[in-house]
Amino acid sequence: MRLIYTHENRIMALNIRNVLMNHGFDVSLNNEFASSASGGLAPFDTWPEVWLLKDDDFDSAKKVIESISHGTKQAIWHCKSCKEENDDSFDYCWKCHAENN
Ligand SMILES: [Zn+2]
Repeated sequence: MRLIYTHENRIMALNIRNVLMNHGFDVSLNNEFASSASGGLAPFDTWPEVWLLKDDDFDSAKKVIESISHGTKQAIWHCKSCKEENDDSFDYCWKCHAENN
């Protein structure tokens, strides 16, 4: 197991997990609900964490995440609720959590 990604926003971590799963990686999401238990003042170690089950996948998975965060080749979509720009590989708006449909 190897930690590949963590973010204070659970939706961001969920999106990364979904993207990695769509690319065929075996991933696990930890601490998914830890932040709500700590009343919103979550210290770093309770952020949701995306773990790779296979250490050998790390380099290729990292490239997938980097291509998302840089937004170089992906299309974007505009959220119908809040008009925010979202990466095409995300199923939910990162800002208001509305579904892309
Ligand atoms: Zn939105």
